[in-house]
Amino acid sequence: MNKRGVFFYIFFLIVLLATLLIATYYLYIYWPRQPVDLQIVPDDSLQNKPLVENNLPSKQFYHSMRYQDRAITYSIADSCAGDRVSEMKGAFANIAARTVLTFEQINSDDAMIKVLCSDVAPEAGQENYFVAGEGGPSRVVNSTLYSVILDGKISLFREDKCAGAKVATHELLHALGFDHNNNPASILYPTLKCEQEIDSEIIDSINRLYHYESLPDLVFYLATATKSGRYLNFNVEVLNQGLSVAGPAKISVYSDDELADTFDIGAIGLGSRKILTVENLKLPRDTNKIVFVVDEENKVQELFENNNQVILRLVEQR
Ligand SMILES: [Zn+2]
Repeated sequence: MNKRGVFFYIFFLIVLLATLLIATYYLYIYWPRQPVDLQIVPDDSLQNKPLVENNLPSKQFYHSMRYQDRAITYSIADSCAGDRVSEMKGAFANIAARTVLTFEQINSDDAMIKVLCSDVAPEAGQENYFVAGEGGPSRVVNSTLYSVILDGKISLFREDKCAGAKVATHELLHALGFDHNNNPASILYPTLKCEQEIDSEIIDSINRLYHYESLPDLVFYLATATKSGRYLNFNVEVLNQGLSVAGPAKISVYSDDELADTFDIGAIGLGSRKILTVENLKLPRDTNKIVFVVDEENKVQELFENNNQVILRLVEQR
């Protein structure tokens, strides 16, 4: 072997050795390892449970019932004669005068409260507020924080012999989600007496329920993840537990403090959940903590901004 031959031989050996080293390094990094679960770490921000009113002084049909907005629209059917129209308007004025609510009459099927009139009272035993009743919510979505009333209905079939629109006010309070009470002096007592009034518990309850304006609230409903070597498989669900539809949002995934990726999850309806499932997300480096953040850039205005992340940590292996 000449000198030239020896040189190439050594060069070849060095290249081979380097290739082997690099291959071993990559094998080490990417070799499928035992998948490890990541566990949710209790986060302080999650301890700050949103404070919405669910201990109201007045009883409702479902928990925390309210319309999306403080400004509520209504329509009055043509079948309502003049005196019933003025009674109904008197009832809206009664509530508006003493609460944060406002009412606006519109001539559209989109009205949130529809007022109908009939001369036929519902038969005994059919006085269910949601079916044949006199007044009540007709479409309700449980968004978690609230039972959001999408539509309410009022049927006026009784002649009101009392001054002050007592029957219409009683029915309007049902349409606002309130059930009867045991206070004979209250307008929500099951049997009507002309001297009954809107008691202060009702006013207080309405003002507490409508304390927050109509905004969505995004939270992680569920988060699970497994890590296999540098690869992450995860499944997260974001819930809109608020009062209105949440505009398009993103989920950011952090590996320790480094951004691994972001994912568009689009808009989320009231009380709806969006599921994001990702497999084999390559993490920037070895990691012990994964943080999911929804709407990190605060593009969605929410009821609560301090409940938008969830932290998962590697479980100790034994
Ligand atoms: Zn009633």
